[in-house]
Amino acid sequence: MKILSVESVGELLHCHGLDAFLMDLMRDLKRDFGRWESFTKMPRPAMHVPGGVLELMPIYDNELYYTFKYVNCHPKNPLMGKQTVVATGQLSRIDTGYPVMFSEMTILTALRTAATSALATDLLARKNAQTVAIIGTGAQSEFQVRGAQLVRDIKEIRYFDIDSKAMDKFYKNMKRSSLRLVRCKNAQEAVKGADIITTVTACKANVDVVKNHWITPGVHINALGGDTVGKTELELSILSRAKIVVEYFEQSIVEGEIQRLSGKEAKKRVYAQMHELVTGKKKGRENDQEITLFDSVGIALEDYSVLRLTYELAQKYTIGEERNLTPVLRDPKDLVESLHIV
Ligand code: NAD
Repeated sequence: MKILSVESVGELLHCHGLDAFLMDLMRDLKRDFGRWESFTKMPRPAMHVPGGVLELMPIYDNELYYTFKYVNCHPKNPLMGKQTVVATGQLSRIDTGYPVMFSEMTILTALRTAATSALATDLLARKNAQTVAIIGTGAQSEFQVRGAQLVRDIKEIRYFDIDSKAMDKFYKNMKRSSLRLVRCKNAQEAVKGADIITTVTACKANVDVVKNHWITPGVHINALGGDTVGKTELELSILSRAKIVVEYFEQSIVEGEIQRLSGKEAKKRVYAQMHELVTGKKKGRENDQEITLFDSVGIALEDYSVLRLTYELAQKYTIGEERNLTPVLRDPKDLVESLHIV
């Protein structure tokens, strides 16, 4: 069984290239959203614990693999020098049930979230979009910029975080890019003139990080930080002006920005699930005046896509350690043999 550490994933990205990985992942996400019905899925079970939430994200397709990710969100972790979001995950064969890879997924989550919002941005943002506002310059932020750059000719990034050190870090990591970086005093200033607004804040509360009256026609919003019960980022009235796309209605109604609507209202307000745009069953943006909203919570299918791609590339480049996390036996009924104790 392959074990992929953080270092292995770094090595893999070095071999394959970050942009190539994100492009391949967008291709695979299209493939997997495109065969939505062939997946057995469920809204993720979440356990709300003091300080955060712990989530398990299982899914399988009817051909090859079962995957799950364990992920948390503890917004106050950075105060203790720890990350808000960390994750690990597993890929197993469905024909035998044997695990074939166990991997770090903190980086893979940032990559799959960037590739998913890039896909949504490609389907929903204006073709001539050039300016991105990033609200929340934490761990996910640079990946989000990279994703947007793959689908639009981005020239300017307007960024804001309530933590000035997080803004310093964002600038340090982005300053060598050719992008014009505009450090803003507040979210309203960041949003001003932006064609795409990406919110990736972490706060377990219903916070109006972005206000309705700041939103002008033609804007596309990727709302990523509202992703569990009682955790949203947009002023509620934005929802009634926007063409809303979600990943998986049954999960989004519990965790997304739409959690504040009644089930009936949400059914009426949500325009499409992502797979309907990917397959062309429904159109993405239809004119330059529409306000579009990708109300993202992150779903297990995205983790499936990234784990499968990572496994294929790890085999191609011979990356990762081979370890026996399941016993290797001459006689499959003789488990005692593996222990050498009898
Ligand atoms: P992080 O803690 O590293 O960064 C979050 C940043 O938001 C922090 O720097 C914090 O200071 C800032 N912030 C908090 N409130 C703010 C506000 N009102 N205005 C401006 N900035 C504010 O966390 P991260 O790993 O970057 O994750 C960010 C969010 O994205 C989390 O809420 C996480 O749950 C969510 N997330 C969603 C998905 C998805 O698929 N939708 C995937 C990964 C992470």
